[in-house]
Amino acid sequence: MKKMPEINESINWKEITPGGTVYEAAYSLKFKTGDWRSIKPVFNEEKCKQCLLCAPVCPDCSIPVVAGKRLDFNYDYCKGCGICAKACPFDAIEIVKDEK
Ligand code: SF4
Ligand code: SF4
Repeated sequence: MKKMPEINESINWKEITPGGTVYEAAYSLKFKTGDWRSIKPVFNEEKCKQCLLCAPVCPDCSIPVVAGKRLDFNYDYCKGCGICAKACPFDAIEIVKDEK
């Protein structure tokens, strides 16, 4: 079975699995979807009520929750889809242009 290599800017299609097929557990950790992002969510801790409605809707698990409290975004994996901002009832997430 072909093992999945680290994904980076220099890798080519011959080095990944055909069609990006998943052969290993935790394979998605190798795809840092933050590289694709053109907009990003910004967390306003002052407005946040820690209701945790945002964390489960994130398709990239980019909202860490530790000891029942959400922390700042993990931008390595956030693709800027904006779902979390729509889910937040307290306007604690603003979507802005990503200037990186
Ligand atoms: S913008 Fe999308 S990918 Fe990024 S944290 Fe929000 S829901 Fe997750
Ligand atoms: S949905 Fe909004 S208020 Fe609730 S935890 Fe997330 S950022 Fe905080």
